[in-house]
Amino acid sequence: MNILILGAGFAGHTAALHLSHLVRDTAQITVVAPNNRFTWFPSLIWVGTGTMAPERVHFELAPVYEKLGITYVGGRAEIVAPDDRTVTVRLPNGSTQTIAYDFLLNATGPYLNFEGTPGLGPKCGTTQSVCSVEHATAARDAYLESVRAMERGQRQRLVVGVGHPAATCEGAAFEYVMNLDWDLRNRGLRDKADLVWLTNEPDPGDFGVDGVEAKKRGSVVTGKALVQMLFDESKIKPMIAAGVTKVEQGTITYDQVGVDPGTLDYDFAMLIPQFRGIPLKYVAHDGSDITEKMTLPNGFMRVDADYSAKAYDEYRAHDWPALYRSPSYDNVYAAGIAFAPPHPISRGKKTNAGTVIQATPPRTGMASGIMGRTVAYNIADQIAGREPSHHARMSEMPAACIASMGKSIWNGSAASIIMVPVVRDFEKYPEYGRDMDLCDLDVGIGGAWTKRLLHDAFMWKLQAKPGWQMIPE
Ligand SMILES: Cc1cc2nc3c(=O)[nH]c(=O)nc-3n(C[C@H](O)[C@H](O)[C@H](O)COP(=O)(O)OP(=O)(O)OC[C@H]3O[C@@H](n4cnc5c(N)ncnc54)[C@H](O)[C@@H]3O)c2cc1C
Repeated sequence: MNILILGAGFAGHTAALHLSHLVRDTAQITVVAPNNRFTWFPSLIWVGTGTMAPERVHFELAPVYEKLGITYVGGRAEIVAPDDRTVTVRLPNGSTQTIAYDFLLNATGPYLNFEGTPGLGPKCGTTQSVCSVEHATAARDAYLESVRAMERGQRQRLVVGVGHPAATCEGAAFEYVMNLDWDLRNRGLRDKADLVWLTNEPDPGDFGVDGVEAKKRGSVVTGKALVQMLFDESKIKPMIAAGVTKVEQGTITYDQVGVDPGTLDYDFAMLIPQFRGIPLKYVAHDGSDITEKMTLPNGFMRVDADYSAKAYDEYRAHDWPALYRSPSYDNVYAAGIAFAPPHPISRGKKTNAGTVIQATPPRTGMASGIMGRTVAYNIADQIAGREPSHHARMSEMPAACIASMGKSIWNGSAASIIMVPVVRDFEKYPEYGRDMDLCDLDVGIGGAWTKRLLHDAFMWKLQAKPGWQMIPE
């Protein structure tokens, strides 16, 4: 049996690790990824503020795969032929290689759609991003330039958030703005900076998951109140329910719910782009293009979800996929950011000018890892002649998120959030859609320690060092 995994990120690499354990004797596992490295994205926030060296957030994949008996192919998947069970891969020298499979996992993560917002991103020389090691390193350099300007006495406006009305990953951007605040305070420069939080979330603390609540000493506290309090304390100006529509050197054009479209000048900006699916072409046996059958228009792969159009109040927990398997091919899966969510989790809003401002569903590292593990177990089931039996709906899955607010274990802090499940299930939990005995919200130095520990624990686990199986996703 040949198992082919496209992508070596949170979903693909986790699946590869588990498969090497589950079916090492019965299957040949091949991983295709353009870069011979795994990136621990959560710590890119610290790279982007200059508090962690870029070399500390990634490691080489090839030696890990060699140790586990996995074949690694450095290349970029381009064409998937599910009838023929092959994938065509573009190699770095420009030639192609066709790889046959019995089981396929698409775990190619996001295409960073900077082009979706005219003028956005490092290529245009305007805004920064922290979505790769290179981007975070460039963001650090641009930020430090602003720091030098402040040291010379110049006031700077730093804008952080998302760069498209339908972007996701607001949690990472939130972490970045809080780390900038912390770093500027440590440098004694906070009074020289205007920090602006520009987001498509309908409310502060929504994070694309329709917000969070927790019970504290008998009353319910909300993520909205917590984030609002943090912004008030830190004097960060929030611009909520706003979508960036264009960027020019030094100027962001946006449309915002409840007000007329406007512009905002900036000296430094870090805006996360919209995510789309990695552009893979799917072809049938006769060579015809079946990409539309296999993916949604946003490029993410269709799996066992309910994609029928519904109003927000009709969304159901069971709309979300359980197996992450293609409805057309029972040997093809998609996990992590590569799978198409059935619909948003947050409520969208419309501006006066008619722009839909919609925070789209995050598929965080933890969720992506759980999906990768689930697919690995389901493929192992199928190889053993059983029906896939492992479920990981986002409407059943817990999520723990720690947003650091300063890297130091002495004076850093973090907002820790636990939600169970990620997507609200009002049939199971009629009041809040979540298990309020398990949901939690906290701010404190303990989270900063945990975030540092997670970095080291996962860098250990993901290099398949002894005992890696003991560390959960
Ligand atoms: C700055 C930042 C901070 C974050 N912080 C957190 C956090 O604190 N906690 C958390 O849970 N999540 C966090 N996330 C989110 C987390 O990183 C993502 O959810 C996770 O990376 C998604 O995993 P994935 O496997 O789907 O995609 P990725 O991890 O992006 O992996 C995709 C893989 O596919 C490869 N690939 C791309 N194109 C092709 C192709 N054509 N063929 C083959 N391979 C291809 C890529 O090279 C990569 O190996 C953060 C994200 C960012 C950007």
